[in-house]
Amino acid sequence: LVPLMSESKLNVDRAALEQLLQKRFFFTPSFGIYEGVKGLYDYGPTGTALQQNLINLWRQHFVIEEDMLEVDCAIITPSKVLETSGHVAKFADWMCRDTVSHDFRRADHLVEEVLEARLESDALARKMADVSLAGGAAADAGGKKGKKKGGAPAPTKLDDAVAEEYRNILAQIDNFDGDGLGELITKYDIRNPETGNAVTPPAAFNLMFESSIGPTGTLKGFLRPETAQGQFMNFSRLLEFNNQKMPFASAMVGRSFRNEISPRSGLLRVREFTMAEIEHYVDPLNKDHQRFEEVAGIKLPLLPGTVQLEGKTTPIQMTIGDAVEKGVVDNKTLGYFLGRIYLYLTAIGIKSEMLRFRQHLNNEMAHYACDCWDAEIKTTYGWIECVGCADRSAYDLRVHAAATKKKLCVRENLSEPRVFEKLECEPNSKVFGPRLKRAAKPVLEHLQTLPEETLEAVSAALAKDGKATVTLSGTAVDGDYEITPDMVTIERRTITEHVREYTPNVIEPSFGIGRILYALIEHSYSVRADDEQRAVLSFNAAVAPFKCLVLPLSGHASFEKPLRDAARRLRAVGVPARVDDAASASIGRRYARNDELGTPFAITVDFQTAQDGTVTLRERDTTKQIRGTLDEIVQLVKNLVNGEITWEVVLTKYELVNTAASENDA
Ligand code: AMP
Repeated sequence: LVPLMSESKLNVDRAALEQLLQKRFFFTPSFGIYEGVKGLYDYGPTGTALQQNLINLWRQHFVIEEDMLEVDCAIITPSKVLETSGHVAKFADWMCRDTVSHDFRRADHLVEEVLEARLESDALARKMADVSLAGGAAADAGGKKGKKKGGAPAPTKLDDAVAEEYRNILAQIDNFDGDGLGELITKYDIRNPETGNAVTPPAAFNLMFESSIGPTGTLKGFLRPETAQGQFMNFSRLLEFNNQKMPFASAMVGRSFRNEISPRSGLLRVREFTMAEIEHYVDPLNKDHQRFEEVAGIKLPLLPGTVQLEGKTTPIQMTIGDAVEKGVVDNKTLGYFLGRIYLYLTAIGIKSEMLRFRQHLNNEMAHYACDCWDAEIKTTYGWIECVGCADRSAYDLRVHAAATKKKLCVRENLSEPRVFEKLECEPNSKVFGPRLKRAAKPVLEHLQTLPEETLEAVSAALAKDGKATVTLSGTAVDGDYEITPDMVTIERRTITEHVREYTPNVIEPSFGIGRILYALIEHSYSVRADDEQRAVLSFNAAVAPFKCLVLPLSGHASFEKPLRDAARRLRAVGVPARVDDAASASIGRRYARNDELGTPFAITVDFQTAQDGTVTLRERDTTKQIRGTLDEIVQLVKNLVNGEITWEVVLTKYELVNTAASENDA
């Protein structure tokens, strides 16, 4: 869901940022020397290190902290699995085609883009109308598009009611299916904004990449669209590994693939991306979480479905405890994970005021989900879903169990046996088997899995008519079979159960690492107040691609040895250090380029080092420097990187070095 861009603008010059990211090799379009393919990106050394740090912190925060069972499953998935999971039939987006240029566009994004542009134009026209009361008008009423001299469209004012309708649609755009989007396209004359041409009605497009496995080409497969299915395939083994104890979670970090229709927002919508997914298995009768109290007091900005359906996009601030108690969030496990997601995202540096949790609307929900909340992060592209947190209920385990006839369930010993009455069907083996032959087993299975009322009706028919008919379908022996009273005994019995068998529900937090990485870059980006040309990425030390830079003041030969020494000592205490001894660049320029890499600290070797063994330590955001012996500074950097001390505290203990000369020496 992307609300009006005007609401969601960040103070980031995206063109300048993109240039920086390209120059400092965070990422680049894949296969660029062949002109590339949309939606595919390669990460350079900076992006790779940043991504790895985000994954390591994710592992620490979820897998290790919560003792989850991490797995690494196959990417190539046989069609059968994804047919059963519903992805072959339903994992699709709605697509339109330009009737003249034949370009493809995702239907919901097209409607969004056009309505947002009209509303922006309307806002501008209203502003100009206010100003023009004092002379010269630009706004015209009604909603027809005007053209300024020179070709650029003039701002167009909309009727108040039309503008309100647009806002209402945008607040719930994800709730429209193909027909609904088609109606919007016709009603509001939505055209391809790039060409002005009409578009075809939306058609479903399956997002999975298809392939075939092996040389015969007969075994159809797909690149997985999510990591979840591999985890479900291993459910029984994982439960066994966990000594049959519930609840528990499995987790996986890996690549997923989606053939996006028309990717056009950089890393935010790509065709191949790294996901980090958790499948938390929980008893459907008790979705509480043992550690819920730890997050209950956290206040989250929540945008429930009911608010969106009123056409609003302002979140409600609510503690997780209240949200669960009032039924806004369905259960404590879901609430617990929303809290943990919030803690992870803010710990890596996402700004909390640019984070919200939005509930999915009914039509938007994936085919497997019964409730879903997205963590959305504000970027220059609008609010972007970066983490989905879905309650998949028992859907996946049930459908896979039914398709494979394997038990994917939990058996729980009951402390008190459960005693209850049940209508049961028992075969009379002397007659049942010989009479039904090959069909005996499926007919019995059919009878024994009938709902109680239907079995009751069979029993009544046997008593009244002396026979009943069983119809089999979906078996190798489909057809009608006659049952007579001598073949079965149907009676109510008292059952005493010592074991409870159930299919667990699954709560699934699903993280798109690339989206989080890009949003974090935007939230960390700024330019120096005194010099707009100097950009800084203020990553915290834990996520920063490189932790400490080591550099000589100049190319003087005497700096060589202390420089290597400093780098070696940093590495020895576990701080990855990079040496920047490119003597061709001034010290100021070298500081500046490391600010663009987000490197938080820099140790500089200078003429004083040779005299007294001291070096300076510079911190990126303040550009302040202190001086100390190499031993002292190395220890300090280690503590700063590990978060054992803050730079503010360091500043209270050391005298500042005058840095004007080195900072301005660019
Ligand atoms: P979903 O299974 O659709 O809820 O997606 C889970 C997460 O994967 C989302 O929250 C996104 O962060 C990420 N994601 C989904 N599609 C893409 C894409 N095309 N490009 C990048 N990330 C994606």
